[in-house]
Amino acid sequence: MSAKFIGNISTRKLHILQYADGRCKIKLIRAENKKEFNSLEEAMNYPDKDHPIFSKCGNCFKKMEIEK
Ligand SMILES: [Zn+2]
Repeated sequence: MSAKFIGNISTRKLHILQYADGRCKIKLIRAENKKEFNSLEEAMNYPDKDHPIFSKCGNCFKKMEIEK
């Protein structure tokens, strides 16, 4: 199973793989800053639910809202 969500530890942004485009700069995320998740819940509770580091990317998450 491939990852649905990609977190950039450097920018602390979470992206949806399906909706990500050039503005998300997924390809520019260095391997050591890239964290993959299969669920949104898992991603938003990383590294633990009391201290999450990721916020939703305004680009790909917005595209998902529009297409819903
Ligand atoms: Zn994005």
